[in-house]
Amino acid sequence: MIQVFVDPDLTRVSYAQNLLTAEGIPCFIHNEHTRTLGPSVAGFSYTQMLDPALCILDGAHQGQAAEIIRTHFQNTTVEGPEWTCSACNETNPGSFDLCWSCGVARMP
Ligand SMILES: [Zn+2]
Repeated sequence: MIQVFVDPDLTRVSYAQNLLTAEGIPCFIHNEHTRTLGPSVAGFSYTQMLDPALCILDGAHQGQAAEIIRTHFQNTTVEGPEWTCSACNETNPGSFDLCWSCGVARMP
């Protein structure tokens, strides 16, 4: 298991997961439910708040995954207005091209 992206904002981590999944890179979010499930999550330190982390299983994808994430998150200072997903009505930051929640592409 290799962490490729860590952010306190689960929205951004979920978005990164969508990006890697779209490229065919198997990945999952570690600590996704830590904040809500707390002590019921086995194996974690219960006193520590853990940030969600996007992980990949195969190290062969690490370079590609890092490149994808860097490409999509390096321009986050230039953000347009928030937009609402046409499929699930989730609000997305202006820098996202895909809905972080369901992965549907942004409608013009
Ligand atoms: Zn959506």
